Amino acid sequence: MDFKKQITLAVKAGAPIVQIISHDTLRIRATINSIADTLSLETFIWDSCKGLRKGISQQELMEDVDTPSEVLEWVIGDNQDDLPTPVNCILLLEDFHPHIGTFDHKNISRLRSFAVAVAGRRIDKVTIIMSQPVFDLPTELVKDTQVFEMPLPNLSELKKLAEQAKQKFELDERDCSFSTEFLNSALGLSTSEAQLAFAKIACEKERLNELDISSIVREKEQVIRKQGHLEYFHPSATLDDIGGLDSLKKWLKRRKLAFGESAKEFGLEEPRGLLLLGLPGTGKSLAAKAIANAWQLPLLRLDIGKIFGGIVGQSESNMREALQLAETLSPSILWIDEIEKGLSGIQSSGSSDGGTTARVLGSFLTWMQEKKKPVFVVATANNIAQLPPELLRKGRVDEIFFVDLPTEQEREDILNVHLKKRSREDNLSAVEIKEVAQLTLGFTGAELEEVIKEALFMAFDDGIDINFEHIKSAIAVTTPISMTMHELIDKTRSWVKGRAVRASSQKPEVITDKLKSMTRLKSEIENPFE
Ligand code: ATP
Repeated sequence: MDFKKQITLAVKAGAPIVQIISHDTLRIRATINSIADTLSLETFIWDSCKGLRKGISQQELMEDVDTPSEVLEWVIGDNQDDLPTPVNCILLLEDFHPHIGTFDHKNISRLRSFAVAVAGRRIDKVTIIMSQPVFDLPTELVKDTQVFEMPLPNLSELKKLAEQAKQKFELDERDCSFSTEFLNSALGLSTSEAQLAFAKIACEKERLNELDISSIVREKEQVIRKQGHLEYFHPSATLDDIGGLDSLKKWLKRRKLAFGESAKEFGLEEPRGLLLLGLPGTGKSLAAKAIANAWQLPLLRLDIGKIFGGIVGQSESNMREALQLAETLSPSILWIDEIEKGLSGIQSSGSSDGGTTARVLGSFLTWMQEKKKPVFVVATANNIAQLPPELLRKGRVDEIFFVDLPTEQEREDILNVHLKKRSREDNLSAVEIKEVAQLTLGFTGAELEEVIKEALFMAFDDGIDINFEHIKSAIAVTTPISMTMHELIDKTRSWVKGRAVRASSQKPEVITDKLKSMTRLKSEIENPFE
């Protein structure tokens, strides 16, 4: 059901209090106005600057009602000046949440009295609608309040805004065209943000058309950055930049077409997401970036750590906002890097954070299960032991891949990728590359890249181009992370059997005794599985 219908139904059904979460003040006003028209109700609007006014559009000041307590006393028929109690109306309270905080218990009481009066039919056909940018509701009001989130403007609403900008800045008809691609680029912006983006372009370029898509996307990136939980990426990496991981690449290539219309007609379900598990530096993030590029979809990185805000209810609201934005930009890829970091300690979360982490995870998993929009989730995790088991349950994602240390053949591929990236693919013979791959047992992709970078420095110092000897010297001064983590690797390998699919079809190599002989810190020996 669309947003306006939902609010109309709530008002018609006699809901006493409705809370709408959105930054879009103007669009909320317009929606409420239109609902009031449809249901033949009067409207009143209040904010802390201007006090109470009659009518959302005309706004006729009502001088005797000004403060938050006065407006609530007026609506429950308890005011000093014996003003008539409103009937048949919607009262829109803008940004009222600071006035029903912990220290404003009287206002909470007044709202509860109002809800009781509506339930007892002492007050009839009056609904209070609170509009605010964040979810914030005292526990006392939870049962009496319907909460809705206003979706961001859709394509037809954005078209209206573009038309308005065209008129306002008197642009020539020939310089304007609002194609789906043009409007798509503005999806994810709120009304005021889209208005500003269109106005800036109209002012500067005296046109508004597909040539401005990149400017709109830039604007959008800024908005996403400001929100703080999502980051818009423009990855240049492709699947060819990943050395090895053939099974994962094959899976991705097969799924690429599944987002299209023909796949839907064929009866295929849209891919939901992937979980990539493995040691740091094995190419999980690289894969997330390459998927976005291969599928030509916007890549949004969710910082799960930043989701957890200080105020009660803030974390859930942050998560909802981020997921809503990802849906608005869909089809898109939502990349959650190191998902275990944000969700670790979930088992104890009930006692340590009042269950916030568990609730955030719960809402994320429900969204994963029920989402209707094509948002493909790529979650990566280094530490399997910290992952909540709910996330690993079958059906949450399309597939769980385990990214192991690269095999000898894969190390050759990775070395070739990084030499080619630096235009040095001819500096080593095939035999030399093979020998380097043999010398680097236990190295991750990131460590192999580091070896090449280090060898380049050595070559530069020597005043010659990079060669086999430089690479061998760089290997000698690099200690792979697997040296100190072999128990973890062994345990992880046996844990993933039957639980995850290997990202590579090649048989994993055994970490040799030579690698196992390092002196280690106690924390490095710890077995996180038991
Ligand atoms: P982390 O969890 O620490 O972020 P990760 O598994 O996500 O680790 P990446 O960040 O993808 O690892 O790897 C770091 C860099 O190492 C990559 O940007 C890439 O240059 C190189 N790399 C890692 N694996 C591969 C690979 N299979 N092929 C090519 N390059 C690789």
